[in-house]
Amino acid sequence: MKKIVVIGGGPGGYPAALKAAALGAHVTLVEKGKLGGVCLNCGCIPSKSFLYQAHRYQTACAEGFTGTPDFEKIKKAQQNTTQKLSQGISFLLKKAGVTVITGEGRLTDEHTVAVRLPSGEMQTLSADGIILATGSEAFLPSPLDAWKGQIYDNSNFFTMPTLPRTLAIVGGGVIGCEMADCMNALGVEVHLIELQARILPQEDENASRTLTQVFTKRGVHLHTGVSVREIARQDGCFALTISDGTKRTVDAVLAAIGRVPNTSGLGLETIGVTSTRHGVQVNPHTLQLKNNIYAVGDVNGLCPLAHAATRQGQVAATNVCGVPAQYHNERVPRAIYTTPEIASVGFTRAQLQEQQIPFKSHKSFLLGNGRAAAQDQTTGFFEIFSHTQTEEVLGGILVGAQATELVHVLSTALCAKMTRTQLAEVVFAHPTLAESIGEAITK
Ligand SMILES: Cc1cc2nc3c(=O)[nH]c(=O)nc-3n(C[C@H](O)[C@H](O)[C@H](O)COP(=O)(O)OP(=O)(O)OC[C@H]3O[C@@H](n4cnc5c(N)ncnc54)[C@H](O)[C@@H]3O)c2cc1C
Repeated sequence: MKKIVVIGGGPGGYPAALKAAALGAHVTLVEKGKLGGVCLNCGCIPSKSFLYQAHRYQTACAEGFTGTPDFEKIKKAQQNTTQKLSQGISFLLKKAGVTVITGEGRLTDEHTVAVRLPSGEMQTLSADGIILATGSEAFLPSPLDAWKGQIYDNSNFFTMPTLPRTLAIVGGGVIGCEMADCMNALGVEVHLIELQARILPQEDENASRTLTQVFTKRGVHLHTGVSVREIARQDGCFALTISDGTKRTVDAVLAAIGRVPNTSGLGLETIGVTSTRHGVQVNPHTLQLKNNIYAVGDVNGLCPLAHAATRQGQVAATNVCGVPAQYHNERVPRAIYTTPEIASVGFTRAQLQEQQIPFKSHKSFLLGNGRAAAQDQTTGFFEIFSHTQTEEVLGGILVGAQATELVHVLSTALCAKMTRTQLAEVVFAHPTLAESIGEAITK
């Protein structure tokens, strides 16, 4: 029986452990914090719970409710969700026969993991195969780094004692925009500060423009093309000096600038591996780092998303157990849970242009969709890209209600290597938002 050790129990590590156990391996999972990792404890799930509660409050206000948000209740709902899901993970690991050790793991050679237990004692585990799934942590550049602990990042944002009246969010990427949406819905005055010329700089330009218009209409203060030059404490508030010379005084600051992989103290030097700011470099299909050692999730920098980590964990576990498996980064959908939602998969327009791939764009607008009209959710568009010659579906972007669910139609088309003619043959129920996918692809 193969002995496998997994370091890290987030959405990369625990599915890897489950998969290896299902394939007959003797599996030990080492986790220094809480099972579920960033995703469950201070990332995906807390942020979506907050967003859900914030939108409920926003809807209630639109229907005449005049009270303030019950922030204790919002936090409690999030904690309950996290707790339930955490128990679920423990149950699954136990049922699969995975041994879970609480402690900090480090490699001492290619076949040995040393674990520092909470008591300070060391435990040594020998392994035929090792999967590193140590994730990432918030990145705080200067001048924010000097305020660590006093300003928020994801490690303390969801436990903040009270709702601030005014909040500066530094970083207009996915996390920054989701939290701007959430806090704005809860009545907080939000200043979103982004270094690039537009929010969501990595995403489709039209999607970014749509969200910019929605945010502006909702009163989110957008500061783009600027950075925070200086932070000072003033009467219990934070006084920010922005690079264009303007000043903002806010109750709280959330840093949502980016993440750095957790590689320090992992003993990578003992196996002759180095890492960069982007993490360790693995084979992008097998996830192999070196010989019997694999690395999955945020630590390898391939795709900083929970579902990417999970698929990578499963693929690495399959490979480490001796059954060949492949990971396909281009099939991973990207989802942003703002209002409207934004979801994409495959090639973006910018990538197609950069790589000079000949493509056609097929676009529809939710304004003409019956379900969207009935639900008063007509903001957005669906755009699909197909290869000019082969007609293969290459990717697409959906902006609108339920986009994060509907994107899987495109994911399926991509995985099945469907042509646009084949996708156009799909009959979509009426009235649904999905009909707009059918409408787009026939154009
Ligand atoms: C606010 C926020 C919202 C997000 N929302 C989404 C979203 O909606 N959808 C999405 O797909 N992604 C989202 N993400 C990203 C997602 O959380 C990460 O991509 C995902 O958690 C990465 O999984 P992982 O298993 O690689 O690492 P992690 O989740 O970081 O887990 C790594 C685990 O390893 C443990 N560990 C680290 N070092 C050691 C060691 N030496 N020994 C033992 N244990 C160790 C850590 O304690 C941790 O539990 C969000 C992130 C944030 C911050």
